[in-house]
Amino acid sequence: MLSEGMVDQNEKRPGAGPGGASLHEEVHRVYPVKVSPLFQRLMEKPGDPIWRQVMPDERELLDDGPLAMEDPLGEESRSPVPNLVHRYPDRVLWIVSHVCAVHCRFCTRKRRWTRPVPLTDGMTRAAEEYISATPAIRDVLLSGGDPLMLPLEKLHDLCARLRRIPHVRILRIGTRVPFAAPERVTDELVQVLRTHHPVYMNIHVNHPWEISPEAREACARLADAGIPLGSQTVLLKDVNDDPTVLEELFVELLSLRLRPYYLLQMDLMKSTAHFRTGIRDGLRILQRLRNRISGLALPQFVVDLPGGYGKVPLSPQAVERIEADRIVFRNYEGKACSYPLDDGEGPELAKLLGKEP
Ligand SMILES: *Cc1c(COP(=O)(O)O)cnc(C)c1O
Ligand code: SF4
Repeated sequence: MLSEGMVDQNEKRPGAGPGGASLHEEVHRVYPVKVSPLFQRLMEKPGDPIWRQVMPDERELLDDGPLAMEDPLGEESRSPVPNLVHRYPDRVLWIVSHVCAVHCRFCTRKRRWTRPVPLTDGMTRAAEEYISATPAIRDVLLSGGDPLMLPLEKLHDLCARLRRIPHVRILRIGTRVPFAAPERVTDELVQVLRTHHPVYMNIHVNHPWEISPEAREACARLADAGIPLGSQTVLLKDVNDDPTVLEELFVELLSLRLRPYYLLQMDLMKSTAHFRTGIRDGLRILQRLRNRISGLALPQFVVDLPGGYGKVPLSPQAVERIEADRIVFRNYEGKACSYPLDDGEGPELAKLLGKEP
């Protein structure tokens, strides 16, 4: 949690203005603040790239406009049993933990910080039974919260239950722990995971400052255990929406044997508008990097479509049309779904995608 010193710095933040302190308390009440000890050390000053990711901002309370949604991905409606999201035919996302090493202010599931869907033994059994009874499921993505914040025996038990289901081919773990709390990546953890192979890991990392010596070691331990590592990076305004920053990040990740997997457009989550870039910004950045850096270092830029239509790549084939105020995608099922555009974004986007506006 916050040390006194940090609260002080926060109150002195330029622009907080009179009443800024109580506004911050209010933000903290609605969306609790959590910063790992390592991220506290990595922060240098207000407004830096680590600071912005984890420190509260009064703008979180102001964003409830027409675009703001509480559950932008429609996850609750796509859950056949609580905490299990079945959106694509052959894989499920299973929320197995409500605890994270840090509270990312831009989190799509931040509604759950204070209002978690309870995780009971009964629900674990229900999810297990659903997966068991659905032979199409080949790939189970453990998510949260952060699965690596679970007690080790619990994680072991969950993986063991899944491993008893013959049609489940691979396990995936989505986590921010290797960068935010690498001390949790112990030899014991790695030993447990390797007994459940094939296990893949999708690691959330957004900025080169997060690549600490401790994180390097954690990634090396995971890679040495034969766990293929991929990254997920959220494109965040004033944090990493810069080609130089992302070039450094992706190239460094590759040297950790961590392959950049997804660059994610911000979801339309309520309270996070100040982090949202235009879609054209992500496209522009990736076009700058294409061929300048190894193809292995280039992630796919994707939008997770509002309403639970799934992720679509920002490629001309996935785009149906571009209008003045929105871009219309076709998802993998052929359904149309739109994402809002900023003023004047349309024509440039059309050019970047080789589409008529
Ligand atoms: C992102 C996601 C997945 C995994 O998708 P991949 O494209 O295979 O990485 C699975 N289920 C849900 C609900 C997701 O949001
Ligand atoms: S680690 Fe993931 S789930 Fe946890 S707060 Fe950050 S974005 Fe949300």
